[in-house]
Amino acid sequence: MHSQSHLAAYAAHTEHSKGRRFSEAAPTARSEFQRDRDRIIHCTAFRRLEYKTQVFVNHEGDLFRTRLTHSIEVAQIARSIARNLRLNEDLVEAISLAHDLGHTPFGHAGQDALNACMRDYGGFEHNLQSLRVVDQLEERYASFEGLNLTFETREGILKHCSQNNARQLGELGQRFIDKKQASLEAQLCNLADEIAYNNHDIDDGLRSGLLTETLLMEVPCYARFRHEVEASYPGVSAKRAVSETIRRMVNMLITDLIENSNLRIAASRPQNISDVRNGPPMIAFSDAMAQEARTLKQFLHEHLYRHYLVNRMSNKAKQTVRELFNIMMEDPSILPPDYRVIPFVTAEDIQRQARRIADYIAGMTDRYAMREYRRLFLIEELV
Ligand code: MG
Repeated sequence: MHSQSHLAAYAAHTEHSKGRRFSEAAPTARSEFQRDRDRIIHCTAFRRLEYKTQVFVNHEGDLFRTRLTHSIEVAQIARSIARNLRLNEDLVEAISLAHDLGHTPFGHAGQDALNACMRDYGGFEHNLQSLRVVDQLEERYASFEGLNLTFETREGILKHCSQNNARQLGELGQRFIDKKQASLEAQLCNLADEIAYNNHDIDDGLRSGLLTETLLMEVPCYARFRHEVEASYPGVSAKRAVSETIRRMVNMLITDLIENSNLRIAASRPQNISDVRNGPPMIAFSDAMAQEARTLKQFLHEHLYRHYLVNRMSNKAKQTVRELFNIMMEDPSILPPDYRVIPFVTAEDIQRQARRIADYIAGMTDRYAMREYRRLFLIEELV
């Protein structure tokens, strides 16, 4: 019924899956990875992505990317590339839609602040938190905790991992210890993520007015395509020219990734997913394109992510997260009962309580965190 004959030998085939943590009967009308994708779409953390942001905070504007629209863009890009490389589209879709589930409110500022708060309690890392969401925190099924996703989807979600954390993750963490690769589908989602945010951040940056086209002309590939568009469509409106330029950049990156990955796959000749895991990274840009992508990233860091107006908001975001964490740690009796650790006496209790607070804060949307902050700190606010 679910013929996978179109897949390359080196793709992730469901019949070679390392399976789920709790064994379940095979799905009847869909593949195992489609079932993963469906479970992700129906989970609570997925709906929260709509109100979480990366660069801008949710209330700053309705047209900026949210983590939800970002994840959908990643899935779109990853699927396009997967189809070209004859990789498993269902798997890349599942990984893409789940890859940001563990993010805190307020983007990187929120994650940095929470990580600092958790320094004495094992730290906070959004990749690991995404895994924690799908493995433990979602409560939707009677017979197991979490979503009970396949090994391959979980492997794709866990992009990076410290050696310390890897040792606690069993088979899933082993590749970080052995310095081996994940499936090509997982490798692909990483780069699809990068293609998506580099380009949509230009778009959002221009829309917000923090970036200008004059500045962007410093980025060689932007300037090249912008001139090309102007030459082909003299007098076209700036709005359309910008979209057309970004569209061409996305296309260039996707095309390069497909071509160069095909070359690498041909050079390594993997016969199955096990060869992939034991081989060198095979999904990669050409050197020239990797350089273009780095230049673009550096530009965004300098002119957008560290723009003083972004810094102002990031500082408020960090302060909000920090104060929420501190007050909850100081007096856990203000926590919703589900997040309380009782008794709260030994060092181990305190450690577990810190982790539950991190789960609570990480699960908050931008606006929920702001509301919670007002409820906890402003006496005139209802609790
Ligand atoms: Mg992402």
